[in-house]
Amino acid sequence: MTATDVVVVGAGPAGLAAAATLGRHGATVTVVDEQEQPGGQIYRQPPAGFTRPASHVTAGQTLITEATAAPNVQWLTDTTVWGILGTRAGLDGYGGTEPSGRYRVATHGPTGAGVLEPRGVLITSGAYDLPVPFPGWTLPGVLTAGGVQTFVKAQGLLPGSRFVLAGGHPLLLVVAAQLVRAGARVVEVAMTQRRRDLLVGPAGLAAMAGARGKLAEGAAALRTLTRAGVPIRFGTVVRRASGDPDLSSVTLADLDRDGHPVTGSERELACNVLALGYGFVPSVELAGQAGCALGWDSPAGGWVVRHDEWLRSSVPGIAVAGELTGVAGAEQATVEGRLAALGMLLDLGLLETDEATALARPIRRELRRRRRFVAQVLDRFAPDRPALGTLVTDDTVLCRCEEVRAGDIRQALRDHPHLGTANAVKLVTRAGMGLCQGRSCQPGVCQLVATETGRTPEQLGPFTAQAPVKPVPLGALAAAVEPPDPDRRTRSDQPSGRKLSPP
Ligand SMILES: Cc1cc2nc3c(=O)[nH]c(=O)nc-3n(C[C@H](O)[C@H](O)[C@H](O)COP(=O)(O)OP(=O)(O)OC[C@H]3O[C@@H](n4cnc5c(N)ncnc54)[C@H](O)[C@@H]3O)c2cc1C
Repeated sequence: MTATDVVVVGAGPAGLAAAATLGRHGATVTVVDEQEQPGGQIYRQPPAGFTRPASHVTAGQTLITEATAAPNVQWLTDTTVWGILGTRAGLDGYGGTEPSGRYRVATHGPTGAGVLEPRGVLITSGAYDLPVPFPGWTLPGVLTAGGVQTFVKAQGLLPGSRFVLAGGHPLLLVVAAQLVRAGARVVEVAMTQRRRDLLVGPAGLAAMAGARGKLAEGAAALRTLTRAGVPIRFGTVVRRASGDPDLSSVTLADLDRDGHPVTGSERELACNVLALGYGFVPSVELAGQAGCALGWDSPAGGWVVRHDEWLRSSVPGIAVAGELTGVAGAEQATVEGRLAALGMLLDLGLLETDEATALARPIRRELRRRRRFVAQVLDRFAPDRPALGTLVTDDTVLCRCEEVRAGDIRQALRDHPHLGTANAVKLVTRAGMGLCQGRSCQPGVCQLVATETGRTPEQLGPFTAQAPVKPVPLGALAAAVEPPDPDRRTRSDQPSGRKLSPP
């Protein structure tokens, strides 16, 4: 059996910083990530054997080296955590928290199913692109900006030849520049913001001075796009994607002052990839499944995990860091990872309160600085959910897994006027019950229900997250729900992590 004090779920900036801090202070750590290599979204490493130099590869290497070189840290890569069991009565089928005070972290990886039994869990599962439904969004060739970036970053591939990028997040400009550098033809970048929305006052300038790296990245992207002659249109939204069987054109429209498309302003652009980047959604499904309390914060991505000043969730022993606390970028995720690790070391008895408080002081200062910058960014780039919600027609598929259309949801609300929560709508329509467990449809379905019923997202609540939060073979479920066995922890059914070499 491999004993581990802490399981860190996710090897992005937050998980890497946390693992390094935990390991250095004597905690035994197993980092689990479904990617083959550590780095998370932003520092995604190319597969072994690729020698292509890329700035994001080198940018992440300091952090990856810090974590892989730290003592006491083991790695389970290419491995999914599909549930945290035993944190709520009945959740794992046999009655609540284990008497040992250890969690049962259910995994599935190359060697099959396994269960890790740590004393604490740190969830740093990051975020994913905000899905925005509109007519034609399910056509092959319509991708998220993050998805397109993954092709370029991870494989050095371009998923098409003529790209239109549409959305409202600054990442869109970065991805457009990466595409241009990779040799793609970018026809247009269409941003929902109007130019004047981007003006910055004195308070904004002061906050932004603390994030020169990000500003430099944005300026470099704009330079690349300007040199390549790529048009950037502001106050523009995507109305429709068309093509048969694949995407062949996209229809864009100007937005009025209230963020609604102006009738008659529509124009069509030929393209074979439409990359959408309206923002990000925190990956809270695992934390939600474990019973951690969530709160609604629309600019920060929607549902985020509630936490205290050490980033402890409402479930004792489970902490969170990075995008789960609100979408805020890699730098803030790194700082939060270090802070959450100190809180866990305190709880594990590996640091005294005075020591943890002193170590946390400069980290908290840095966090405040980061938060000021992020507040400025969110102020300008947060998605206008109600306006984006008006893009769907009755025919628009919202839940791709269960093929539920906007018209089906509207009909269900007419047939059952008492439906007052997202979960009730899920139960009646099956939207959110498919393979992706609502990751792709929850924002669109909830926005539609909010618009139709006049209820707020807080009143509607999130979909209840169930294990398995990600698709796994049935055998993995069987391995995790064996009846309790007093000798269980003496058996060698826990997956063993391995040491990784620093890059
Ligand atoms: C697609 C995408 C592209 C982005 N590109 C940029 C960019 O170019 N520039 C920029 O500044 N910011 C970018 N961002 C934002 C940036 O990546 C994040 O701000 C930053 O990476 C957050 O760090 P994190 O540690 O919180 O999460 P992440 O870096 O997202 O790391 C989370 C990790 O958790 C793992 N994981 C999640 N769930 C599970 C599970 N159940 N089991 C096992 N492992 C799991 C994932 O594989 C991932 O490696 C991007 C975000 C996304 C989603």
